[in-house]
Amino acid sequence: MKLAINGGKKVRDKPFPDYKTIGLEEQKAVQKVLESGILSKFLGCWHDNFYGGPQVKALEKEWSEYYDVKHAIAVNSATSGLYCAVGASGAGPGDEIIVSPYTMTASATAALIYNAIPVFADIEEEYFCLDPKSIEERITERTKAIIVVDLFGQPYDADAINKIAEKKDLLVIEDAAQAPGVKYKGKFAGTLGDIGVYSLNYHKHIHTGEGCLIVTDDDELAERMRLIRNHAEVVVDPKGYTNLINMVGYNYRMTEVEAAIAREQLKKLDGLVSEIQKNVAYITERLSKISCLNIPKTREGCEHAYYYHPIKYNVEIGEIPREKFVDAVRAELTPGILRGDEHLMVSYGYVRPIYFEPIYQQLIAYGDKGCPFKCPWYNGKLNYSKGLCPVCEKMHFEELIVHDMMKPPMVKKDLDDIVQAFQKVWENRSELVE
Ligand SMILES: *Cc1c(COP(=O)(O)O)cnc(C)c1O
Repeated sequence: MKLAINGGKKVRDKPFPDYKTIGLEEQKAVQKVLESGILSKFLGCWHDNFYGGPQVKALEKEWSEYYDVKHAIAVNSATSGLYCAVGASGAGPGDEIIVSPYTMTASATAALIYNAIPVFADIEEEYFCLDPKSIEERITERTKAIIVVDLFGQPYDADAINKIAEKKDLLVIEDAAQAPGVKYKGKFAGTLGDIGVYSLNYHKHIHTGEGCLIVTDDDELAERMRLIRNHAEVVVDPKGYTNLINMVGYNYRMTEVEAAIAREQLKKLDGLVSEIQKNVAYITERLSKISCLNIPKTREGCEHAYYYHPIKYNVEIGEIPREKFVDAVRAELTPGILRGDEHLMVSYGYVRPIYFEPIYQQLIAYGDKGCPFKCPWYNGKLNYSKGLCPVCEKMHFEELIVHDMMKPPMVKKDLDDIVQAFQKVWENRSELVE
């Protein structure tokens, strides 16, 4: 059977059904907000409306009930949420924050924004989250916090990493953007560290276009994040808040429209996650019969939300380079109409390890003097060189394949086509040997 990449017939000509979570419920909720005329009620001063309008407050209450946390704080993006979290931690020039190199860029930039230094630790070979052993090696007397990431939808190793953090008195900020609605040993991802951040951007499990909720059980951290969200510097005085560290405010406020959508989306979360899990179980069983593919197991005691489904490729068995294999699989398939090729579909690796980006390679972030990397307050040793995180580099450049072809409303026939595409390339790989 000739491979599509060589001009053969595709396994799948028909576009896959679109992952679309927005429906009538959201339309109605938005309509109500529009009719009210109140699209945001935030005031950037010390006033009742400093905390936002009725939809934002209702969303925060419902989110905190669902996740069983004391505080939920709505902001306009998870990027802003991470910035609030680092701001609340009090980190600043001279401090280090341990971050993952394998994540969406903002989970490392959050350190830089406060002039702290991102220190990259390596990831786990099996689960792709931060490796506790590597974290321990990177801790210095300058370390202030750890930003852990529940990568691809799988919670980080909370038992081990929280223990390290406790011993060294470090704040744990959990980036749970990819892991809403799943648990680690009975507790929700996002609530495992001191502060957790969920994203509601268009690409995530549930969304409001752009948006985020931050969660914490800590009253003081919560209040600091609400201040940063909304022009802290002019609020601290009338509010009588005296700790001025990082009380430089932003406008990270969420509108009433997004909050109304988010309230409807939250109701759909459990159903969506369990559909995705069912679909992944179905394809995993079938893909694991292809001997060049190795499907990593899920961490003991964890649920996985499968923002992406990671697969490891064995080039010795596969005989052709991973890139060729994946390109050939993609060529067999036709993406959905709504997202087209803007989503991953099937890809080799996830994102290039973050320290390879030019700002780290050239040590230029703020101004032209190399701040914060070369700030006189910083007396540590920087390292952003190749080889810094060997497991991450091996996963990204050699072994990992990720795909997101398992989202509802895909049915068995759709999933069978995905499996068939992999199977066809595997069986006909000799066509791709040069
Ligand atoms: C999507 C994502 C973010 C950023 O979310 P935004 O809401 O787009 O700012 C941060 N971290 C991870 C791991 C993500 O996947």
